[in-house]
Amino acid sequence: MEFTNSPLVTYTKLSPNHSGQRNHDIDTITIHCVVGQCSVEVLGSIFAPESRQASSNYGVGYDGRIGMYVEEKNRSWCSSSAANDHRAITIEVASDTTEPYAVNDKAFAALLDLVTDICKRNNIKKLVWSTKKTDRVNHKNGCNLTVHRDYANKSCPGKYLYDRHNEIVAEVNKRLDAGEPEKSDVLYRVQVGAFKNKVYADAQLKKVSEAGFDTYMVQIDGFYKIQTGAFSKKENADAMLEKVQAAGFNAFITTKGGQAVSTAAPVVKKEIKVGSTVRLKKGAKTYTGGNLASFVYNRDHKVKEINVDRVVITFNNIVVAAVKKSDLTLVE
Ligand SMILES: [Zn+2]
Repeated sequence: MEFTNSPLVTYTKLSPNHSGQRNHDIDTITIHCVVGQCSVEVLGSIFAPESRQASSNYGVGYDGRIGMYVEEKNRSWCSSSAANDHRAITIEVASDTTEPYAVNDKAFAALLDLVTDICKRNNIKKLVWSTKKTDRVNHKNGCNLTVHRDYANKSCPGKYLYDRHNEIVAEVNKRLDAGEPEKSDVLYRVQVGAFKNKVYADAQLKKVSEAGFDTYMVQIDGFYKIQTGAFSKKENADAMLEKVQAAGFNAFITTKGGQAVSTAAPVVKKEIKVGSTVRLKKGAKTYTGGNLASFVYNRDHKVKEINVDRVVITFNNIVVAAVKKSDLTLVE
């Protein structure tokens, strides 16, 4: 996995107290109490000396500011468990010095922001908490929050934060859900004509596809309709509409599809797409100019990926090379 750090950090003082790169993907969060209403700077100075033999990835100060002491890619020394700290992001939160080790509102609000950010960047779709230690340490049922007391004889994160884990989960999951793009089955289609008579529809289809648009015909409500593109995002349909209009066609956006109609002659301009069968032109190089084995010019390949003019081709599902689109000819 690719490691990043939180953009919410406003103070960084990297501690020497860590084990280097993690041996596990980040899939867990462990929240601790500092036992002291300290600032991110003070926490940084605590983790600075090697003699301290302790650290955390992040700290939340009493004032709600966020500090970083060990980058996310590295394993912090925080939870008295190597296995836990290899997979967890550890967070120290400024707290009172006695049970229940209460955290103030500013720090708690910042903690929610930080946990949400960690989940988003590390693709943790949902936080799962359990009040059972066996669930937590075994990551049962997707449990991905652990606490220091699971691995050492201590109160950490204190009764205050421990009891608020349910609330943390509910709030963070609400934010993660809100960030999900809306799921919609609606497709926006750009319509470039509707005809009772199929002859006219065929003629229009030909004109539109000759103008370079991917065009198809559907039959709906007794009409043959010429459409181009079917987009789940309205703005993509808007962009296509502009192009079609710029090419001189009367068009509008509709969400109505219909039965596909086979046209007399397939006049749709064929082009190389993902899934196409292609052949390399003789002597073609890789996308970056490298040489290819001579046998590749004598066999068909499948297109796996296209990024503008860079095309990844495969043979028997195995990637052969990335090549220039202009070096390919379409077989089918
Ligand atoms: Zn702790």
